[in-house]
Amino acid sequence: MDCLFCKIIAGEIPCKKLYEDEQVLAFYDIDPQAPVHFLVIPKQHIACASEIDSENSQIVAHIFEVIAKLVASLKLSDGYRVVNNCGVQGGQTVPHLHFHILGGRDMTWPPG
Ligand code: 5GP
Ligand code: ZN
Repeated sequence: MDCLFCKIIAGEIPCKKLYEDEQVLAFYDIDPQAPVHFLVIPKQHIACASEIDSENSQIVAHIFEVIAKLVASLKLSDGYRVVNNCGVQGGQTVPHLHFHILGGRDMTWPPG
């Protein structure tokens, strides 16, 4: 499949890997927007959050379990932000479901 993140999962494109199990991959963003910026993605290709349904929603719970472990290991005890951009107007540029985890600086609200 012609999907950037599926190629990263397949090892066809390198990444700075943070965590991997049979269901998910976590790796650092190539263009970090905070001192800590990594992505957690399902290995199953799901295009965006709008494709989450009763068949595949378990992966989202697992992703948030992984996020909790990773932020603890990275000592983001002052807080962090989890972002999912969905669709063109949501600012999604890679059409494979992913959650951004940003930390290490104060975040602002509302986001741009
Ligand atoms: P989106 O804009 O779809 O929410 O997020 C896509 C993210 O993927 C962006 O933050 C972008 O910097 C990151 N990204 C795009 N291409 C690559 C790549 O080849 N490797 C890594 N590690 N991150 C990438
Ligand atoms: Zn994909």
